[in-house]
Amino acid sequence: MDLGLTGKLALVAASSKGLGYGIARALAGEGARVALCARTHDEVQAAADRITAETGSLTHAAACDVTDPTSVSAWIESAVTWGGAIDALVINAGGPPALQLKDATDAQWQAAFDLTLMSAVRMVRAALPHLNPGAAILTITSSSVREPIPTLGLSTVMRAGIFGMVKVLADELAPQGIRVNNLIPGRIDTDRVQQLDSLAAQRSGTTPEQVRASHESRVPLKRLGTPDEFGAAAAFLLSPAASYITGASLRVDGGAMRSVDF
Ligand code: NAP
Repeated sequence: MDLGLTGKLALVAASSKGLGYGIARALAGEGARVALCARTHDEVQAAADRITAETGSLTHAAACDVTDPTSVSAWIESAVTWGGAIDALVINAGGPPALQLKDATDAQWQAAFDLTLMSAVRMVRAALPHLNPGAAILTITSSSVREPIPTLGLSTVMRAGIFGMVKVLADELAPQGIRVNNLIPGRIDTDRVQQLDSLAAQRSGTTPEQVRASHESRVPLKRLGTPDEFGAAAAFLLSPAASYITGASLRVDGGAMRSVDF
């Protein structure tokens, strides 16, 4: 199936590795031109070069810290200067630290707010004047929007805000033909998940391998997902093939979430 992404311009935040990289790679594999960003310039440049070498699609890399409004604007402007009007925007960032909400300080709450919620607000605001009619925005949240995850309380609270934002923006931007959707990772095998497994192992006196096996055993498909599988779902939602889908959330979780409500 041709997703209709050939030649389109896609911006993917936080994409030097993990979920963002998987999405950037999938979009480039469909023929899109992709602007990547992450805080570490050398790593995001290397990621972009690798994607171009693998797919033949043009890529652009820039250093950007999505918690910094000036940095977000500069990334979007540089991507637009490079590639023209935007067809797809992926809102992604690193994750807040694992801790118990009862122990979180004001500074940790503020940092999580800037990283997860305000970064999304600022990316949308900076990109809006440059979005083509028919463009698509995709947020990346977490299964915590339905099933709070112990120790990831900050993430759980902030992602609930993103979840609401997607529904409101889907209404507000529909008259311009702009779609806004949300993609929910269950447990996708990335550096962050491996770090979380190591932390959980330390806390429980087990090994990261045992923690991983325990997670896998609770997934109906009996394994973690891959960034490529996550990227494929993102490419679909961002493409003209999903032209009647807006305000929606799609789970990519191997069946792990138990709720039946969406
Ligand atoms: P990851 O493997 O650690 O990759 C994070 C990426 O984000 C890197 O490219 C990193 O590069 C970049 N990044 C981090 N902070 C940034 C910032 N302030 N500004 C710009 N770029 C930044 O993490 P991941 O697993 O892909 O997770 C991505 C998001 O999905 C996180 O919010 C995570 O909590 C969420 N999530 C993931 C899963 C999963 O199964 N993997 C499940 C639920 C939710 P630099 O460090 O160079 O900036």
